[in-house]
Order: sequence, then structure tokens, then C-alpha cells
Amino acid sequence: MVPLFEPWKADAACAGSDPDLFYNELDPDDAKRVCKGCPVADDCLQSALSNRELHGIWGGLTTRERDRVRRHRTVACPQCLRLFKPGGDQRKYCCTGCATEARSVAQRKWARRHPRQTV
Ligand code: SF4
Ligand SMILES: [Zn+2]
Repeated sequence: MVPLFEPWKADAACAGSDPDLFYNELDPDDAKRVCKGCPVADDCLQSALSNRELHGIWGGLTTRERDRVRRHRTVACPQCLRLFKPGGDQRKYCCTGCATEARSVAQRKWARRHPRQTV
């Protein structure tokens, strides 16, 4: 059953976007641009996988891409949306470049939310 409110949605990069954008799977580039670097892309993807969403872009992935994730046990890098096999260390990002970029995006976001605490 889909929960009425999933807390991760509060931080979704697509909040306020036109929902139709995320259901145009023939031309998913605009939706993917919004999803790239979304802080809750992983939660969004996991939600779609566990709820077996059959349509739309979730976690930056189309329905066909989510099928690939299910079949090949790949994961999507939340920073660049590239599919990769996480391997034994269960990496969240596909490479150190994406991990570094995600860290600096998070730091910039934190600085915007706490302006008085930055030097
Ligand atoms: S990954 Fe994309 S669809 Fe999912 S919450 Fe983020 S912006 Fe919205
Ligand atoms: Zn990446």
C-alpha cells in the first residue's frame, strides 16, 4: 500500500513542477534534468520499485530503466543517474567525482539554510 505521506517528498527537487513532465517517457530529458542531483532521488526510486510503479520518471529513471535496475540489480547514481553495480562496498555514487559533487551541493544547501553560521 502506498503511504499517504512519504517524508522524503518534502525535499523533492520536483516539488511545484508540472507532473505531466514526469509522465512523458518518450521525451524524458526535461524530467531527468530536474531529477539529476535531487537529494531524495534514491528514496524516490526505491519507492517506485517497491510500489511497482508502471509509468513515469521516478528517481530519474524511466519505466524501462527501472526494469533494468530490477533485472540486473544495478542502482542509479543519485548525482548523474548513471546505472552501475554497487559491488561489495555498497557505494551510493558511481564514482568519487559524483560523491564529491553531491557533498558540495549538500554543503551549499546547508549554507543557504544557515546564513548566519557561515564565515
Ligand atoms: S528524483 Fe525526480 S521525480 Fe523523484 S523526487 Fe526527485 S525530482 Fe522528483
Ligand atoms: Zn554518478
